[in-house]
Amino acid sequence: MARSGSTKSASIGKTGSVQLVIKNAKMLMESGILRGGVAVSNGRICCVATDEHLPPAETVVDARGQILMPGLIDGHAHIHDPAKADHEDFTTGSRAAAAGGVTTVIDMPLTSSVVTQKQIEEKASQGAAMSIVDFSMYAGMMKSDNVAAIPLLIENGVAAFKAFTCEPYYANDGVLTRLLSEVSEHGGHLTVHCENQGVLDEFKNDMEGEWDAPISHSLARPNLAEQIAVRQTIGIAQQTGGHLHIAHVSTREAIHEVDYGKRAGILLTSEVCPHHLVFNRDDMNRLGPKSKMNPPLRSKEDRAALWSALLMGTIDIVVSDHAPCPIEEKNRGANDIRDAWAGVDGIQMILRVLLSEGVNKGRLSFGRLVEVACRNPARIFGLYPKKGVLQVGSDADMVILDPTREETIKSDMMFSKCGWTLYEGMKMKGAPIATFVRGAQVFNEDRTTMKPGHGTFLRMGEGSAPFEE
Ligand SMILES: [Zn+2]
Repeated sequence: MARSGSTKSASIGKTGSVQLVIKNAKMLMESGILRGGVAVSNGRICCVATDEHLPPAETVVDARGQILMPGLIDGHAHIHDPAKADHEDFTTGSRAAAAGGVTTVIDMPLTSSVVTQKQIEEKASQGAAMSIVDFSMYAGMMKSDNVAAIPLLIENGVAAFKAFTCEPYYANDGVLTRLLSEVSEHGGHLTVHCENQGVLDEFKNDMEGEWDAPISHSLARPNLAEQIAVRQTIGIAQQTGGHLHIAHVSTREAIHEVDYGKRAGILLTSEVCPHHLVFNRDDMNRLGPKSKMNPPLRSKEDRAALWSALLMGTIDIVVSDHAPCPIEEKNRGANDIRDAWAGVDGIQMILRVLLSEGVNKGRLSFGRLVEVACRNPARIFGLYPKKGVLQVGSDADMVILDPTREETIKSDMMFSKCGWTLYEGMKMKGAPIATFVRGAQVFNEDRTTMKPGHGTFLRMGEGSAPFEE
């Protein structure tokens, strides 16, 4: 980005001083695309205007006619689990976020629970010391023994709860009913990983002798497992009320169930991951154990249905489900896919995928891109309008992107601790070129530009209305 030196005006006093102006941009506003720029004071947007009406500032960035949009909010990313510090941590994960235009990360536990005030405080202080982007966190894993903790967790700023219908954190329908009842009474939302355990138990038997082929991981977890679990969980929400969020929707059948639930007036939202939007199960034997995640890659038809549901509104947000691992944990599944870690990188790829495979292929509009990557996640996690929108008073979390930039994805451009990417070798069009968190630049072109410790912990729900469709 082109910068000019200090243009600070003597007439602007200390408290009213403008630290940053970004000018000459095409801004993705809620009302459409505007030509001009923004001014930033004390980390917040203080002015949105055409270039000639922008105030003088300490730093002026010329966006050179590129697109300026709100920073992305990744609503599902496993970037910091103290028990899995060799996988990712707040520093490496937030660098990957910044390099992907993500300015707020909602961290989710992998194996270490976050269900007490002390656990929230510990993770919040680790994030404040290590992260370069803002963050919040999920509570999890929710089971029968921590249902009662929900009011206290909400009081401590954590109002998103994660539960599973399958192992290894299985919660039965009775527990899900209790969880949703608590959410209905106290607020926040319950996010459920939906795969029916009985179907998974049964269908894995069909794969005996075929576990050397990575695609067996997908065939052993059929669409039916997701469909049954989604239908059942929506049925519970219909009785309890409370906001239910379906994690990583991956099948046509689940889309159908979510569509039904929304039409029935249930407070229901859902998410999709970039890997399910890009790959399908026929890619698995070529990609090897790297392509293992849960729920697994599906058919081409499922992938097409996900794009359509994202455009039409059945799917509300795009999240990374970022959960990479050291490559050794993938390679140990070379002869038996069951032995590989389930999880892939993604936080640096959300925006690239939505631009390259979405906007540039006619599957998504810029308006819908801002909804699914910024505004909707801000609303779902109780951060709107502090986050997720370019408007006066909002945090100056912004990304400048070039929708025509072509690149070939290489592991050496990735900031994840793991040093590999599922997207290796993919030719993509459209990339972030500068990222700002509360007006401070955290990423420029190909490098991060902020020291760990810039990120702040965001309490969900503060200063915003609960999510209502
Ligand atoms: Zn996950």
